[in-house]
Amino acid sequence: NSENSTFDEGEHGVEDVPHKMSPEEEKALLSEEDALSARPVQIVVAHEDDHAFELDEAALERILLQEHVRDLNVVVVSVAGAFRKGKSFLLDFMLRFMYNQTSCSWLGGHEEPLTGFTWRGGCERETTGILAWSDVFVVDKPDGSRVYNLSQNVQEDDLQHLQLFTEYGRLALEEIYEKPFQTLMFLIRDWSYPYEHPYGLDGGKSFLEKRLQVKQNQHEELQNVRKHIHSCFSNIGCFLLPHPGLKVATNPNFDGRLTDIDDDFKTELVNLVPILLSPKNLVEKEIGGSKVTCRDLVQYFKAYMKIYQGEELPHPKSMLQATAEANNLAAVAGAKDIYNKGMEQVCGGDKPYMSPDQLERGHANLRQVAVKHFRSVKKMGGEDFCRCYQEQLEAELDEAFTNFIKHNDGKNIFYAARTPATLFAVMFA
Ligand code: GDP
Repeated sequence: NSENSTFDEGEHGVEDVPHKMSPEEEKALLSEEDALSARPVQIVVAHEDDHAFELDEAALERILLQEHVRDLNVVVVSVAGAFRKGKSFLLDFMLRFMYNQTSCSWLGGHEEPLTGFTWRGGCERETTGILAWSDVFVVDKPDGSRVYNLSQNVQEDDLQHLQLFTEYGRLALEEIYEKPFQTLMFLIRDWSYPYEHPYGLDGGKSFLEKRLQVKQNQHEELQNVRKHIHSCFSNIGCFLLPHPGLKVATNPNFDGRLTDIDDDFKTELVNLVPILLSPKNLVEKEIGGSKVTCRDLVQYFKAYMKIYQGEELPHPKSMLQATAEANNLAAVAGAKDIYNKGMEQVCGGDKPYMSPDQLERGHANLRQVAVKHFRSVKKMGGEDFCRCYQEQLEAELDEAFTNFIKHNDGKNIFYAARTPATLFAVMFA
């Protein structure tokens, strides 16, 4: 896991420890401390009064632009669904798994209260907008998925919520051959018909096949979602989860401890979470056929938030446009990074002064590499659209070059010394 992004260095408290620790001990202590100080961070705020959404860019960047993760491919695991349907409850078990992956007792102690994303009983909503966990977990073989969280049964409006996505997907498919979305898991809570379809993944599969059948008398829109959903997601699954027991659902003093949860539920939870999160099942996020890094993800957030500013749901076309913009901007950022890192090697702070010709050659070479990189990244929006971003990239590289020239000139002792030297010459004349 990663270091928490916001607390002060000093608070790690390594200095307070009386004996000198081995690197392993230090690492274990840090990860324990991380787990304790890690917390949910609100990255998208939903304003109750005008229903507007606002992105907390700084909060998002503190998580995703940490040096040790920003260039890694990202796996996004999102849990979506109506409020008070046990999303936070599920997420907290997912966190337990992420912090204790190597242990077979990751589910936790019997009397241990459940912590993490705040959750509570009652009918008022606790969580609005989007929360992210402050730790980014670094996994050796990464992968990602989307969890669609439903209660009791798949209802028509649940499928309708998917309509926007599938419509967006249809447009995206016209541009890019790959399926626009990766894994979708329907999670059905409080499944009460295990004698018809058993709990777990297999029961879920047979149930979903039945539920996604297209029938003659269905409304056309619903038929379309059903027909289209398979062409939008590379992988669709369904999991039937039993009811967790009355204490979970109705006792106001329930604090998440395992003793109060029904055995059937715990058994299925132990099956479900690794299906979502074990390294071999994780899928790296791809957009338009390219893997997305943590740094790219920031761009996508910014682009999508812009189109969610209006009163109404964005049109799928504007979502597509925003995606095209964001993946062009991400490609520009990636290309600039290659150029800047390359130039640092050629003429960075610790490198000696070099002749303007040599510097120019270095620049021309790296500029070409960077532009080539930009062109090689799969992007949406068509050739003309991408050309604008290429021109923007070229202009920004040339501007960066003028700074490298200045910096290089500053290292030229003859150049730097010219003024005082001339002054001396005058004085001695
Ligand atoms: P969220 O708003 O979707 O994040 O919902 P919470 O995780 O805060 O849970 C809302 C309530 O549902 C809490 O009282 C939980 O104890 C309870 N709960 C959690 N999981 C389940 C479940 O699978 N079935 C039922 N019936 N209740 C659950």
